Amino acid sequence: MNAINVQVVFRDEPAPAETLTEPWRILVVDDDHEVHQATRFALDKLQVSDRPLELLHAHSSAEALRMLAVEPDIAVVLLDVVMETPTAGLDIIARIRGELGLNCTRIILRTGQPGYAPEIETIRKYDINDYKSKSELTQAKLYAALSVALRTYAQLCQEARARANLEKIIDSGQRLKAYAGADTPGAADLLLMLAAYFGAAPDGFIADQQSGPRSLTLLAVAGRYPQEAVGSPPSAHAGPDLLALIERCLEERRCLGMEGGTALHLRSGATGDLVAWLHLTPQQTQTVDLRMLDVFCAHMAVEWQNQQLLEKLRRAAYTDTLTGLHNRAALVEKLEACRGDADCIARTSLALIDIDQFSGINDMFGHVYGDRLLQLAAQRLRKALPPPCELARVSNDTFAVWAPEAVVQPDLLRRHFSQPFVFDDIEHTVSVSIGVVHLQEALGITGADLLKEAWIALKRAKMNGHGQDAWYTTSSARETREHTRLLHALRTAFQRERLFLMFQPQVALDSGRILGVEALLRWKADDGRFIPPDRFLPIAESSGLIVDLGAWVLRSALRALQKIEVQGHPGLRMSVNVSAHQFSHPRFLADLQDALAQERVPAGQLELEITESVAIVGTDKVEDLLKRIRQLGITIAIDDFGTGYSSLAYLDRLPVDRIKIDRSFVQVLNTQTRGARIAELVIPLGQQLGLTVLAEGVETREQAEFLRSLGCHEAQGYWYAKPMPLEELLPWLQAHGGGPGPEGA
Ligand code: C2E
Ligand code: CA
Ligand code: CA
Repeated sequence: MNAINVQVVFRDEPAPAETLTEPWRILVVDDDHEVHQATRFALDKLQVSDRPLELLHAHSSAEALRMLAVEPDIAVVLLDVVMETPTAGLDIIARIRGELGLNCTRIILRTGQPGYAPEIETIRKYDINDYKSKSELTQAKLYAALSVALRTYAQLCQEARARANLEKIIDSGQRLKAYAGADTPGAADLLLMLAAYFGAAPDGFIADQQSGPRSLTLLAVAGRYPQEAVGSPPSAHAGPDLLALIERCLEERRCLGMEGGTALHLRSGATGDLVAWLHLTPQQTQTVDLRMLDVFCAHMAVEWQNQQLLEKLRRAAYTDTLTGLHNRAALVEKLEACRGDADCIARTSLALIDIDQFSGINDMFGHVYGDRLLQLAAQRLRKALPPPCELARVSNDTFAVWAPEAVVQPDLLRRHFSQPFVFDDIEHTVSVSIGVVHLQEALGITGADLLKEAWIALKRAKMNGHGQDAWYTTSSARETREHTRLLHALRTAFQRERLFLMFQPQVALDSGRILGVEALLRWKADDGRFIPPDRFLPIAESSGLIVDLGAWVLRSALRALQKIEVQGHPGLRMSVNVSAHQFSHPRFLADLQDALAQERVPAGQLELEITESVAIVGTDKVEDLLKRIRQLGITIAIDDFGTGYSSLAYLDRLPVDRIKIDRSFVQVLNTQTRGARIAELVIPLGQQLGLTVLAEGVETREQAEFLRSLGCHEAQGYWYAKPMPLEELLPWLQAHGGGPGPEGA
């Protein structure tokens, strides 16, 4: 992440003077006293890289190990191979490198007996610098070998230091996160880490410049400073010397020490720089390289800010920005986390609360209005359902409540929406649909699937109209899945033209003359079985597919009518069923006109069958539409009359031509039931209103006779003909003298 730009500026600060004159320490290991003397003599007063040499002496391998363990900074070991044993020298090399961990120390092997040369493998394995026989080690050669070894040592030491520092820095970054635990590291964690760099307990503070370069505020304090100091300026807690140092530290953008502690500069890209002050003992600061400290501070600043940025991103990824509630991802994760928790599963339920007609509200009043409404709804939920209730907005206008079962009751949840929302001095009332899943009911499924089940319940609630609720149950889920499967199959069937029409004749009761046909939709599934329209039409209706489907039916019916005409049966009526959704679609009238124009059939031969419920909803609008349809010359029939609202009062007002008495009333004719009386009542009523009355589902001669005696005009039913495909209808019409006879013309 490069969001924070940190510049590390190394200053050319001379190394402390004493390090220049410090001698190189060389350990001579030999069991021969003379060798010690000779070596001292050979190297006396010599310098390597302007530094003198200091010789240490060990006379056995054991003594050598002891010395190496306690004496610091031994740069080179001049090691005799043959001492107590022929390989004593060689034998301790492994321990020098391994046990003692002296990897920078150089080793020059010396031997009196050329035959005891170590194998190349040993030299490589233990990083032996040089191997010389004592006889060939003249003073000059010894000096040359030593100076090479010493320079190598110096270089290795420097690299090791750099590596250790780097490791410390990297490690601190990781530890910063570890210190903070699950939370994002705060300034206090940062202070802790800075102190840890010095091996000190935190005693000091961190201040930032957020309110301007001159006005510092304490972000975190530790040690001698009281917690209440956070938020106040450091000047309230520090003396003038310290304040001056802090100011200089910020000005010069580097770490600065003074007696009693160190001021640390922490550069920040986004906000003002940070400064930390740590009280430290001289021992704690002694070993610290100020340049490395700058690097360390820069690194910590980046690390810290990255962590905060990550937290911000994390928060953004799991928060709904509009309402401040959790979003879907957060909820799914939380549900997922509870999966193994039997107690939580047994006690809690998940509800989805959906604001009815929200998209309509949005369209009508604008998005600002919609957003405001959602925010207020979220506010209200948050107030009414504090933690441990989990709230989320999981889609545009859908809130989720995950809480103990007792809280997640539709009635209780609905109560939060019973009062209107007030803004812009206006009261806004909404109704909500609610779908609930008891977690126990949906055992073992993922968080995402759980949410899906709640959606299924919500969808079912909405199918029942506004302001409803539904619970998820295994059987309801199955039902919904079946619904979805069927819809998919229907769509495919429609695309592949597996749907077709059948036609059922309608006749005049008095003369038996054929007046027209009703187009009835058929779906033959892949397995060859017919799926009844009563089953698939509600699905087409609720999914909106009915609009396209209905348009197709209309065109197909008109095309069929044309064929019927061409085949010599002119003037027949084509009745087409129109569903509620189709009828209320804004394009309905325009599509109707287009279809008539394109299929070139006279509008007077088309009849639309609408149900009673469609006919009376929002009367004025419907009335207007019906009038316009009739102005085109199309006739209108009220289908299934008597089954819906039975609102005879409306009949008077509605511009319709025909009523179709539902089959259920026809079937009970001649019995002493209420149904029988309805048929007997409707027929004269229709006559009075000047409407034609058609009886549906006439199956027997008796029914037909009786209807005729009541004065019913027309009939349709198995007694006359079953619905049939066009190929059958044409010969049927031929045989039955289809087409209006001379009296009807
Ligand atoms: P509906 O408009 O009342 O259609 C009459 C139904 O009664 C048809 O069922 C027909 O086959 C059946 N029927 C006709 N004569 C008799 C009879 O003598 N006895 C009995 N028992 N039944 C008879 P179908 O074809 O199953 O259609 C059912 C419903 O589906 C229709 O009722 C109609 O509401 C709807 N429908 C059919 N096709 C379409 C269409 O293209 N568009 C729309 N929107 N709805 C359609
Ligand atoms: Ca019908
Ligand atoms: Ca009907």
